[in-house]
This record gives sequence, C-alpha cells and structure tokens, in this order.
Amino acid sequence: MIVLWRVTTLCNLACGFCAYDRRVSVPRIHVDAAEVERLASLLGQWGAISGEDVLLSWLGGEPLLWPGVLDLSRRLREAHGIRVSVTTNGTTLGREDAARALAAAFDEITVSVDALEGDHERLRGWPGGWLKLADGIRRLRDANGSPRLRANVVLMRDNLASFPTLCERLADWGIDEITFNQLGGRDRPDFFPQHSLGVDDVTTLRHRLPELVQRMSERGVRLCASDAYLDRFAATASGRAVPVTDCESLRPTLFIDEHGRIAPCSFTLDTYGIPTRDVLTVDDVSHLRERLAAGRRARAASVCADCPSTQVFAKFGT
Ligand code: SF4
Repeated sequence: MIVLWRVTTLCNLACGFCAYDRRVSVPRIHVDAAEVERLASLLGQWGAISGEDVLLSWLGGEPLLWPGVLDLSRRLREAHGIRVSVTTNGTTLGREDAARALAAAFDEITVSVDALEGDHERLRGWPGGWLKLADGIRRLRDANGSPRLRANVVLMRDNLASFPTLCERLADWGIDEITFNQLGGRDRPDFFPQHSLGVDDVTTLRHRLPELVQRMSERGVRLCASDAYLDRFAATASGRAVPVTDCESLRPTLFIDEHGRIAPCSFTLDTYGIPTRDVLTVDDVSHLRERLAAGRRARAASVCADCPSTQVFAKFGT
C-alpha cells in the first residue's frame, strides 16, 4: 500500500504553477504529527499481518519544512517497519549534516527539477538554486546508506525542448529514476494557457521518448514513460475528457491531506474523505480501500468524469 500524505501546505519557493507558491494566500497548515504516528503504527501492524509492503510518502507544500519530519520519519522506519519517502523542492538538502539525516530518515527521495540552470530557478522562484540542488543531490548520493534518488519534472511548453538534456544532467548527478507530469491547470488556471503542452508538443514527446528511455537505461537510470500515460497527455492537450468509473484496480495509492482526510486521490477529499480518527484498528486499515470504493460507487465525484490522477494512468509504468 502506498499512502501519499500532504503533511504541510507551507512552502518557501514561488512556482507560478503551484497552489502552495509562497506568494499565494492560502492557510499554511502542518498535519498533526501524533496522529501521523498513530496511523503509521496501525499501517505497520497491518503490513506485518498482511505481508504487504507499506510506503508512506510525504508531499506538500514543502514537506521538509514540517517540524520534526526527519526524526519522525526515521522512527517510523525503525519502530514500525514501514518505508518512508518524500518529494522535496531540494532547498534544505544543503544544510549542515542534511545528507546523513536524510539518509537515515528516508528509503526514497524525489526531488522536483523542471529545467536546466536559470530556467529551473525562474520557474521555481529560486535564484542560485540550480547549483545548490546539484550539490545537495551529489552529497546525498555519496552519503552512507543513500536512499533511492528520484527526480520529477513538470513538463510544459517552456521546458519540453530541453527535457532530454535535463535527463542527461540528472543522470550525471546520480539520480536513479526520472518521472514527469504534464502541467495541470487546476492549481493555477492563470498560468496554464500560456504554458501547457499542446497536441503537437505531446506528439513530439511521444516520438522522442523511446530513444531517451533507452539512452537513460544505458546510463543506469529508469525513465518512466508508458503509452497509457502519454494517451492521458494527448487527451488533456486536445481537451478530451477521460472518464474513469473504477480506479481501484488501477491506483496503488491512497491520499491523506493536512487535515487528516483519507481519499482515493487528492481531487476527491471533499466527496469521499474519511477522517484518520475513524481508523482505530488494524481491521479498519484492511477495510479502508473497500470503504473508499463503496463511497465512490454510491456517489460519483464530478472530477471522475475526467480523472486527473497520474496514478491511474500508470505514471510509474506498468
Ligand atoms: S478522480 Fe480520483 S476517485 Fe475519481 S477516478 Fe480519478 S483517481 Fe479515482
């Protein structure tokens, strides 16, 4: 079971396409750490009984700004036998002793990197950030017990042409796996029209990917790209809705937000959200997916008529 948990809405960068851009006026909330540890303990017990692997994956905002995240993550791995990962903007990787502490806390670290040098700094509102990012990732790579290192790229018109060169650079840094998203329009509708991928952009990407996947593979890097995922990109670019009636078998993930609401994905928290405080026993954990699916069957969320979840469309391959 993969549990994606948005643990904070705080962020220190200014990305024009993100809902948690530090310039945007939204409530900045951290999740309750005690509640995270309580549920993690149940997940760990469920994993031990069912034999299923449990991965808790922190999202944000910027999850490494959540106070106590490193100690808690290390404790969850050590005491509850679950794997822990984080998706970060990389701004804290250069701190004193960061590499050692991060290596102890996480099995997997995903760094958001969108473009080369000044273009990445401009997109993320982080002057001087590119060299800091490169340095932080290299130090992580060299740390004892280095976690698996991943990079995620948000693809848009601005960075499509440089994507192959960016992949080469990420391979130079020691990244193990590269994934990508298509710029979405839900978070910042103002940014989307000028920057989103068009139909021709998706065709170009589809044409170039096989050779790039092969080149990365020869360098020991997995570049995740599947036809189903590219089909989703093409549909978005052409304005064609992709309805999904049953995502349960397609989606290995559950999503929890900063308020402790559990849902199939981040888009359906209001429709299907179950409070974490309703999950009191290991038995409750084992029935969680079934309970969420029953909620979906009883009442279709309007967003499912054009499902935006990357998980459902095999972002990580098949
Ligand atoms: S929007 Fe969420 S709940 Fe609806 S089909 Fe997609 S993943 Fe499932």
